[in-house]
Amino acid sequence: MSEVYSLLPPAVVGLQITDSVKLFPVRRIFCIGRNYSDHVREMGGNSNKDFPIIFTKPADAVVADGSKVEYPLSCKSLHHEVELVVAIDKPLRQDDEDAAAKAVFGLAVGVDLTRRDLQKEAKKSGLPWDCAKAFDQSAPISAIKPVRVLPAVLQGEISLSVNTQVRQRGDLKQMIWSVPQILSHLSNYFELLPGDLVFTGTPAGVGVLVSGDCVFASIAGVGSLQFQIA
Ligand code: MN
Repeated sequence: MSEVYSLLPPAVVGLQITDSVKLFPVRRIFCIGRNYSDHVREMGGNSNKDFPIIFTKPADAVVADGSKVEYPLSCKSLHHEVELVVAIDKPLRQDDEDAAAKAVFGLAVGVDLTRRDLQKEAKKSGLPWDCAKAFDQSAPISAIKPVRVLPAVLQGEISLSVNTQVRQRGDLKQMIWSVPQILSHLSNYFELLPGDLVFTGTPAGVGVLVSGDCVFASIAGVGSLQFQIA
């Protein structure tokens, strides 16, 4: 029993790092929406150049590669969104894109699990997205691949299959806002800190997941992620 806390404090969430025995300690998860124009169109929006929506998930929503994900409570339409995830190891506060690029520790493959039915209701009523996005086990993420220097333009296939059928296939070069632009923008609203993760939006092809589905997501040069909906 702890001598300091009245309860056992929650454990730090650790993500595997490719080719390392050390874990990356997750602090917070920021997400942006609407960063690939073909996905903006499929959701019925228009891809103007306004900065994408910002939302968050709790750190303990992380699910490690190879896990089972419980079908979420009170959900009638669970959707997959495969995304590039950026892991940060330096603080950023109102910083420019150069500083932002240097704060990137590594990249990973993530799936922004979404209760689409609740998101539709929230959008209609102008309500927050927490119930749609920030639920338990809503953030499966692969091992983090460290990057020494972030390339000026990221490219590589980003894809997601369900039961071996390809549902989403795009390329990182289709991102409307680059990783440094996203981090710099976020740093105008939040002081980003070591351990923070950022989901960077999904390409077209989002769709429904049901119990028993096996999901495989990958990004060329970054890694891959598998999980099953229980
Ligand atoms: Mn998303």
